[in-house]
Amino acid sequence: MLLFTPGPTPVSQNVRNAMSDETMHHRTPEFEAIFEQTRKHLFNLFATDEIVMLASTGTGAMEAAVINLCHKTLLSVNSGKFGERFGKIALANGLKNIEIKNEWDTPVSVDAIVEILKTNSDIDAIAVQISESAGGLRHPVEELAKAVKEINPKIMIIADGITAVGVERIDVSNIDCLIAGSQKALMLPPGLSILGLSNAGIEKIGTGKGYYLNLASEIKKQRQNTTAYTAATTLIIGLLEVLQTIERQGGLGVLYCNTARRAKATRAALEAIGLHIYPSTPAKSMTTIDDPDASKIRSSLKEEYGVNVAGGQDHLKGKIFRINQMGLIEIYESLWVVNSIELILHRMGRLEYAGIASKVYNETYFKSALEKKEI
Ligand SMILES: *Cc1c(COP(=O)(O)O)cnc(C)c1O
Repeated sequence: MLLFTPGPTPVSQNVRNAMSDETMHHRTPEFEAIFEQTRKHLFNLFATDEIVMLASTGTGAMEAAVINLCHKTLLSVNSGKFGERFGKIALANGLKNIEIKNEWDTPVSVDAIVEILKTNSDIDAIAVQISESAGGLRHPVEELAKAVKEINPKIMIIADGITAVGVERIDVSNIDCLIAGSQKALMLPPGLSILGLSNAGIEKIGTGKGYYLNLASEIKKQRQNTTAYTAATTLIIGLLEVLQTIERQGGLGVLYCNTARRAKATRAALEAIGLHIYPSTPAKSMTTIDDPDASKIRSSLKEEYGVNVAGGQDHLKGKIFRINQMGLIEIYESLWVVNSIELILHRMGRLEYAGIASKVYNETYFKSALEKKEI
């Protein structure tokens, strides 16, 4: 079965092998050396002033960010399930929350944020997804962060990059906290989350809030290549292998470029066979199609073509399907997905099969590569 869900993503054989070694004690020079090397790679990936790894899923890092970086009112952007979660986290922790709510295909408007800031001086942090996985949407986070910092540099910008870190280069100049999770673009099993922090963010954290999620305690320990509590040793060993693999395959630039090409080629291929891209500003992490036959297409993909793609949640259940673009994906697998969809549409009587999806995919993907003499 080809796993094409936008998280969890497939874990490659070399990473599984790396994680199958004997269990290591976390307070040993051997593990600390692995931790230090992993941190070095993460500084390169995040380009932030500090890095913290937590033994939690992505939501744990979202909560750690909110409680440590927001002390009064959180302005959150809800264009989907994950944006909604930021608001819930704030309220569950006794903070105030103001929410900007949009349909799941609509990105937040920078003007709307600026307007709200004018009348709410209590807002001390803003939380937003870079890529909102519920509908596969890209929010204009860098622009938003710049506009906010021009108004008040003390307002913390929390950016959920769980389906963006490792997908594309993110400009972190105005971001105070950038979050990633292991089972999405980092191609690992779930259970590890990572926060990249700015120096201004670290200052705001001060002595930290909470207990397990207290970022001040973690920063102090992790600067010494250890963790406040037991580290997620196996996942960190896997993460180092992932980051080294990316390097071996040409580095982050190549990864970002291939991901962007795959995303573009998949979009073009599916549009060429009459399908519609759901979000108005699609993220590179996934391709989301809204279609009356979404459920049928999704189950045919699984049962007849061995491809597992994700559906929609809440009001989009049965109305969309989402194809992963994150990680180190083989082109022939990606091609198989778009070709299978064309075959399914043929069998539904919606078109006459002509190999259009594969043709357009190939043209879109390989033309730019040939022009740059990369092949
Ligand atoms: C998956 C995801 C999360 C939640 O992560 P968990 O690992 O399930 O806790 C948060 N934000 C985004 C954008 C995601 O895609």
